[in-house]
This record gives sequence, C-alpha cells and structure tokens, in this order.
Amino acid sequence: MPEPTPVLPEVLAQIHALPTSSRPLIICDVDEVILHMIAHLEDYLNARNLRFLNHQYRLTGNIGPHDTDTPLPADDVKRHLHTFFDEVSHQQEIVPGAETALKELSTDWDIVLLTNLPGGHNKPAREKLLSGLGVPFPVVTNSGPKGGAVAALSAQRAQPVVFIDDSPTNHSSVNASLPSSVQVQFIADARFRANMRQEDHIDLLTGDWQETANFIGDILR
Ligand SMILES: [Mg+2]
Repeated sequence: MPEPTPVLPEVLAQIHALPTSSRPLIICDVDEVILHMIAHLEDYLNARNLRFLNHQYRLTGNIGPHDTDTPLPADDVKRHLHTFFDEVSHQQEIVPGAETALKELSTDWDIVLLTNLPGGHNKPAREKLLSGLGVPFPVVTNSGPKGGAVAALSAQRAQPVVFIDDSPTNHSSVNASLPSSVQVQFIADARFRANMRQEDHIDLLTGDWQETANFIGDILR
C-alpha cells in the first residue's frame, strides 16, 4: 500500500477557492469516467499505425506499431499523449448517462471534478466542454496521485465522501490518504474493465452510470 501523498500547493489553492458546504461530497474524475478517453486514443493511434498491445491498464509499455509486439519507448508515449490531448481534449464525447446520473446525484450531493492536467494545461477548454455537455460542476486540476487532493477536499466536510476514478494508481493513493472514502472504479471501455482485478478497497467496479447512481444513492438511504 502506498504512503499518503501531500496535496500540491496549486491544488490546495483551487480547493480553498471552492464554496464551503455541509453536504456529502462526490469527487469524480473526468477521463474515461465522464468523457471517453480510450476510444479517442485508439482512433488517434490507428491513424498513426499504432495500437494498444494488450488491455492491461497502462499506457507506457502498452502502445506499439500494428505489425510488431514491441512497445514504443516511454518518451514517445509521453509525446503522443501530449499531442493527443491537445488535439482531442476540446471534442471528447460524453460517456452515456453521465450527465443524467450526476444531475440526479447533485440533488443530495456536492460534486467536484478532479482531473489530472499537469500545470492546469487546457483547464478552461475542459471546463467549457463539460458545462456544454450538461456537467457544470467545479473542476479542480491535479497532477500525480490523487490521495492528497481527495483528503484536502474532504477536510471539514460531512461524510460520506465518494471517489470515482478509472485509475488503479489513483484508487490506491486515495485508499492510503482517505481510507473511509467510498471508492467507485469506473472504466468506460469494456475490454480494459474486463481485465481489471477488483482490489479490496474498491467498493464498486463498473462502466455503467445508472448502476453508479443507484449505488451512490443507496449510501444515503
Ligand atoms: Mg481518468
């Protein structure tokens, strides 16, 4: 189990700028949860004669040319991801049911979107896209594991706190920093979800927003 990570100063500043509230809190990731990511990345890779080598949940070591099983070096993957986000981040498609489920949940819960965009890169474009898609909740940008940010978001707040994210790394980090949180691992892509082993700290592993809304709704009932 990883050590708890501290929240970055630039992330803490965004958290302190949020309105105070005594309602329970849902902290929700964006990529592969609210907006499709893997499907868009696969289109990007195909257009460059690249592909996912398998459906294990990682990008580095898992992207390579169509005609070999040899992965691209980590630096190349990083460069492609940067280009990919610059090209598609203003036009990513919504995961079906996300806006309806979040709207329904927002009757009883505060919702904060916690997304990893190093340096706040593309934050305004992302906020604009999300509110245009009917997901008008505050966005906090983070980089690295999310545990510190989640602990800071939940400080001086009512319990329970629900954390929704696709990444196993972020879930391990949140389990280390805020073990009392309810953890939903949401992976929109069925192939990658089928390859994910559900860890003990994951309360629900899903790719379905209606199931997610029902599960979270039951927490307060
Ligand atoms: Mg994500």
